[in-house]
Amino acid sequence: MSLPSTPYIGRFAPSPSGPLHIGSLVTALASYLDARANRGQWLLRMEDIDPPREQAGAAQIILNSLINHGLKWDGDVFWQSQRSAAYEQHLNQLFTTNLAYWCACSRRQLAPSNGLHTGACRHLGQPEQSAIRLRIGDQPVEFNDRLQGPQIRRGADIGDPILKRKDGLYAYQLAVVVDDAAQGITDIVRGVDLLDASAWQIHLQKALGLPLVRYCHIPVIVGDDGHKLSKQSFAPALDDSHAFNNLCLALRYLQQTPPPDHINTIPELLNWAAGHWQLQDIPAGRQIPAH
Ligand code: GLU
Repeated sequence: MSLPSTPYIGRFAPSPSGPLHIGSLVTALASYLDARANRGQWLLRMEDIDPPREQAGAAQIILNSLINHGLKWDGDVFWQSQRSAAYEQHLNQLFTTNLAYWCACSRRQLAPSNGLHTGACRHLGQPEQSAIRLRIGDQPVEFNDRLQGPQIRRGADIGDPILKRKDGLYAYQLAVVVDDAAQGITDIVRGVDLLDASAWQIHLQKALGLPLVRYCHIPVIVGDDGHKLSKQSFAPALDDSHAFNNLCLALRYLQQTPPPDHINTIPELLNWAAGHWQLQDIPAGRQIPAH
C-alpha cells in the first residue's frame, strides 16, 4: 500500500501500569521503525489517566527503558493526566450534537449481552452515578488495516463505548482519539488486541469531526498459556542491561531480516533495522508465541 503524501507522525502510547516487557517492546519497536522508515516523527504519549491501575514509578521506568533501548522519541512526552480540560470540552461537544448520553447500567445488567451496551437506556437523562457513553448508531464502520486487511464492524457488534466512567475518570477511547488528533498523529501501529477498539475510535473521530488515521495492528506476543503478555499478568520486566539482545529478539518476533554480524551497537542496529523495515514480513495473524 502506498504511503500518504502528508508527513508521517506515529506514536507509542504506553499506560504506566507497570514496566515494559518484551511484548510492549515489540510494539514500540514496530511503531518506531515504521515511523523512521517513512522519515516520520515518532511521538511518546504517557496514558496516565487511570490512577487505580497505575504502578508508582512505572512511567519513569518506561521512559528509561525506551532510552536504554535507543528508542528516542521526538519532542516532549505528552501526559494524558494533564488533558482533562480537552476531554471535557470534547464531551460537551458530543452532548451538544446529541451523540453522548448518560448511562447508569451496572455490569450485572449488561451481563446477558456479554457486557455490550446497545443503548437500552439512551434516553434516560442524567441519573446519579452515571457513566457517559457514545451513541454508535447503525452505520457500520469500515477501515483498511495495513496488516490485518479490510475490516467492518456493525453497531450491534461493538455496542456503545464508555467515554467517562462512573468514577469520574475519562475512558481510554475518548482520551486516545482526542490526543491522537491533538498530536497530529497520521499512523498508529499497535497490538491487534486493540483492533476492535479502532472501530469505536473511528466512530468517535467522525462524531468529533477529527482527522482519520491509518491503522496497522500487529500480532501480540503470547505466553505458554496462550494469553497476551501483559503488565497485569506480571510478564517479566525488560532487563535494560540486555537492550541489544532484547531488540534482536523483538526483530525476530517481527520476522525482520536479522542484522549482519558487524552490527554491534544499538544506534547501528536501529538504523539498520529502519533501513530494512518490511511491514509485510510481520506475521499477519493475531499471536506470536513467546517461545
Ligand atoms: N495505552 C494503551 C496500552 O498500553 C495503548 C493505546 C494505543 O496504542 O492506542 O495498551
